[in-house]
Parts: sequence; C-alpha cells; structure tokens
Amino acid sequence: MEKTIAINAGSSTLKFKLFEMPEEKVISSGTVDRIGIPGSNFTIKTTDGKKVEIDQPIKNHEEAVNLLLKELLKLDIIKDYSEITGVGHRVVAGGEIFQDSALIDDKVLKQIEDLKEYAPLHNPANATGIRAFKKVLPDITSVAVFDTSFHETLPEKNYLYSIPYEYYEKYGARKYGAHGTSHQYVAGRAAKMMGKPLEELKIITLHLGAGSSITAIKDGKSFDTSMGFTPLAGITMATRSGDIDASLVVYLMQKLNITNPEDILTILNKKSGLLGLSGMSPDLRDIIDAAEKGEHRAQMAIDIFVNNIVKYIGSYATEMGGLDGIVFTAGIGENSVPMREKITSKLGIFNVKLDQALNEKRGERFISAEDSAVQVMVIPTDEELAIARDVEKFKKMGD
Ligand code: AMP
Repeated sequence: MEKTIAINAGSSTLKFKLFEMPEEKVISSGTVDRIGIPGSNFTIKTTDGKKVEIDQPIKNHEEAVNLLLKELLKLDIIKDYSEITGVGHRVVAGGEIFQDSALIDDKVLKQIEDLKEYAPLHNPANATGIRAFKKVLPDITSVAVFDTSFHETLPEKNYLYSIPYEYYEKYGARKYGAHGTSHQYVAGRAAKMMGKPLEELKIITLHLGAGSSITAIKDGKSFDTSMGFTPLAGITMATRSGDIDASLVVYLMQKLNITNPEDILTILNKKSGLLGLSGMSPDLRDIIDAAEKGEHRAQMAIDIFVNNIVKYIGSYATEMGGLDGIVFTAGIGENSVPMREKITSKLGIFNVKLDQALNEKRGERFISAEDSAVQVMVIPTDEELAIARDVEKFKKMGD
C-alpha cells in the first residue's frame, strides 16, 4: 500500500500525519515537541489508536525526522521505508512565486528559504523540515504546499497597501495572507454541505486557532483575507497583535529603547494578542475561566477578540455584496461552544440565528437555525489531508 506523509514543521515542533493513499486513511499521526529545547518529546499514534510517548533529547529537525521514521518501523506502522512514496510539506510563505503547490528541487528549496522575510517564524523551520526529509528519503515525491497559494486570487484592490506603489514592485510589499490550505479545504466542504457549487456562494471562513485568520470567498476564490504581508496582521491572536497602527511600532521602539527591529517584532508576535491583553495566558480556555471568575482583563481580551472578528465579517460581507455561509474552524472555531455563541450573537444584522443544541454537538455540521438567513457551519479543518491530496496529484503526473 502506498503511503504519503504530511509534515508541518514549526520552529521547535514537527507534526505529521501518515495516510494510506489514495484511500485517504490516516494510519498514524504525531508530534515532535521542543526540538532543540530541553524536555524534547515525541508522541505518536499507532494504527490501533494507541498513543506512544517518548522523552529523549532531540537536537534538531533531522533527528526528529530520523526518530519519527524509526518509530514507524518499530511500532509496525510500516514494514519498510519504501512504502512511503510521497511527502508534503506545509510552507507558510510562497510570495508571488508559488501560485500553486510545487515539486521540491534545489531551486524551489532555495526560493522557500529566500522568502524567509515574508514569514520569519515559519519559512526557515519549513525549509529545515524539507532538508531533513530529503536527507533521509531523497527519492520520494516531495511537494511544498503553500499557505499563501489560495490567496493568489486576491484582487489588486485587496492585496495592495496604500504605500508608494514602487515598494510593491521593488520589494513585494503587499498582502499575501496565510492559512490558505485550511480556508480552501473548509470552503470546499461548506459548498458540499450547502449543496451548491462554491462558485455560486459568498462564504466567510473563520480559522480561529493559536493563529487566526478570516477569509472572504467569492466566485470560488479567495477575495479578501485578514492576514497580511506576514501572519502578524488581522485579528487578535493567541500571542500576535493583529492589526495595529504602524506608527505605534516606531513609538514603542523609542519608549522601550529598542534598536533591533527584531525585538519589537518578537513583542508583537509572541507577547501580544490574548496573552498581552489578559496578562495571563494565550489559551482562550484559561481566559474564559478567568473571565467567569470576574477577571476584568480576561473579559476585555475576549470582548476584543469577538469584536475584531465581527468587524471583519461585517466588512467582508459588504465587500462581497452578500453572505451565504460562515464557517468556524481550527482549535477555537471547532471546539469553543461559548465563542461561537458570542460571535454569532453579534450578527443579528445579517439575521444569523444559532441553534443552541447543534452548537453543542461535535463534528462537521450546521449550527444555524432553520430560519437563519446565513448558514453557519462548524467544519474541522484538515490541512494534512489537503496536503496529502496535492502530493497525490504530483505522484500521478510522474507516473
Ligand atoms: P490550533 O492553532 O488550531 O491548533 O488551535 C489551538 C488553540 O485553540 C489553542 O490556543 C487553544 O487556546 C484553542 N482551543 C482549543 N480548544 C479550545 C476550547 N474548547 N475553547 C477555547 N479555545 C480552545
């Protein structure tokens, strides 16, 4: 049986899902955590759903890949490495170069590395994951799937910033968006659920997780999206600020005596958002608990998060000239009953009506009431499956 592995490499993590293809059956998944940091560990799910945890030092991504492959054999998930015939890597920034997924060769790998300024937290880690796999399994079909590709269809009016045009021409200073694989996947599912071609629908997809982004999908294409030049822009996130006035960056650098621009970016990427506002946690579950106990800053963080989201929904519905469906996905979107309730309760102007009982269920489903003017859905995202499907396309081309 042919297998394809989908890889999502972060700066200190490497997540994977192994699929039997073309059946799309998940046969294993897992995460290597704290790569290069004391306390490294590896969790892997076996074919019968058992979780195996291994605590051992894992110095770098190459060691992580080696450990992962070794355990696949040891746990009898695969009999031989030759069963894995394809690997798909999530890459956050593809700039204007990658309108679609790409077969990875040396040139593509260099281009991914050269795009590091577009996603400083992500692209270097994605490239490290690619190199590590190339070293261990050099001959399999290796594909890069870009978070930005789905947003290549943004119209000029939605991707250009109001800065001198030559900066776009010379330096690629524009909006690229992110989470494209997720937005595209859930929008496709939504159209199936709604029983209409995606091209005939106006949909807003809310990818609400540690990183959050919102996309307006019109004529089957990404029409506007909340992340910007990098994934720092848009709505308040777990630790990212989302949109702020650019002058504030300079002002704070002066006030905090920051001379290295990387330092202010670290504050905006890692110490802001829900964490910065609440002062307690980046995790919305902790913040909701604290708010219930009367913690003002926790309540304020929630209110700002919700308000950011509904502002985007309002403007995207206006831009598209209508709204047929709203999709909740990712960690918060899929799991938080109270957040979905709070967000939809602010959408009365669109005659959105929530069905409380459906909201409390789990899995892919409608959560809007029969008489809601806009259909609201929860659709668990599956970026790994979308990645594995793209790898299959390239495998077929090579046949
Ligand atoms: P993701 O980035 O999609 O993996 O989502 C991870 C985020 O989802 C974490 O930051 C959690 O705070 C959040 N999350 C997961 N489950 C819940 C829940 N039941 N309520 C609120 N937030 C949640």
